[in-house]
Amino acid sequence: MIAISLGFPIDALLEEEIRAGVVRQLGGKEQNDYIVGKNHILARWRSNVEVWLSKGQIKETVSNEYEHLISAAYDFLLYNGYINFGVLLPLTSLMPELTNEGSVIIVGAGLAGLSAAKQLMSFGFKVIVLEGRNRPGGRVYTQKMGKKGQFAAVDLGGSVITGIHANPLGVLARQLFIPLHKVRDNCPLYKPYGAPVDKGIDSNIELIHNKLLDKVMELRKIMGGFANDISLGSVLERLRQLYGVARSTEERQLLDWHLANLEYANVGCLSDLSTTFWDQDDPYEMGGDHCFLVLQGVQQETTLQYSLITSQTSPAPDS
Ligand SMILES: Cc1cc2nc3c(=O)[nH]c(=O)nc-3n(C[C@H](O)[C@H](O)[C@H](O)COP(=O)(O)OP(=O)(O)OC[C@H]3O[C@@H](n4cnc5c(N)ncnc54)[C@H](O)[C@@H]3O)c2cc1C
Repeated sequence: MIAISLGFPIDALLEEEIRAGVVRQLGGKEQNDYIVGKNHILARWRSNVEVWLSKGQIKETVSNEYEHLISAAYDFLLYNGYINFGVLLPLTSLMPELTNEGSVIIVGAGLAGLSAAKQLMSFGFKVIVLEGRNRPGGRVYTQKMGKKGQFAAVDLGGSVITGIHANPLGVLARQLFIPLHKVRDNCPLYKPYGAPVDKGIDSNIELIHNKLLDKVMELRKIMGGFANDISLGSVLERLRQLYGVARSTEERQLLDWHLANLEYANVGCLSDLSTTFWDQDDPYEMGGDHCFLVLQGVQQETTLQYSLITSQTSPAPDS
């Protein structure tokens, strides 16, 4: 399940694995054995993400005849950041003091830049991170509000772990012992003056919204390249008129709520989103619950940022 959530096919190899030459022959028994070994390593690392998993520990649990496959799987997972990543302490102590792999300049101290920096440092590279702003974190930024001693923390950027299955952010939370709070599945809607929306109408309009999107996907297959230049908004409105759905004021308001939510999720107006590409990141969606970090005071939030930034084992500063 972990391997699937990470995007590994059940019975095939990723292009990257093929390029890395993890097996001598594709499609046979050796490939199957490699996949079983890889899944074993992934499961073992995920069962305790607080400590470094060594190749030796894995080899102890597997028969000698599979040693070369285990070695290939371990190296692939390690160098591609599937295991032994994050803020686990042995990683920092394993970082070589004298680097010998060369130097890398990373532009941007957001999550991606900081994670890449940490990973490269653990491989022995000298890393310099250049950041244009006067703070790290990029699009993740927690604003402290209030007086001294009475703070509230407000996230102005990324805050929800959107699907906990195999999500590397979930691994970071576990390594920092930060509990997670599941976001409720149900989302009751209210009319403009506060009365709750009738559940029947609510679920009916949600169904209509989803069906309209299904139709968009069918239609764009037929349209081919033409769909690139036609906005998602215009196709949805045309389909709504064609099927004569969401006609009453209340129904229309509810459908508009879903459309506004779609714009929020895509960070753009429906009139600016292309019919072809509006859902291009769907294959990378993580499964499982959506969660917030439970922060007891603002200290922990800064810990997450500073743990990514520093490779030191010293405690995070107060602010
Ligand atoms: C309001 C909002 C809410 C969000 N909510 C969520 C959420 O709940 N869950 C979720 O998973 N994601 C959420 N996201 C998305 C998430 O925050 C981003 O996907 C993630 O932070 C991107 O990280 P990154 O390192 O790739 O890029 P960024 O965080 O954008 O980092 C890029 C960094 O590079 C710097 N930079 C750029 N160009 C240069 C340059 N030329 N020289 C020097 N520095 C440069 C920038 O200043 C920035 O610090 C949200 C985003 C926003 C804006």
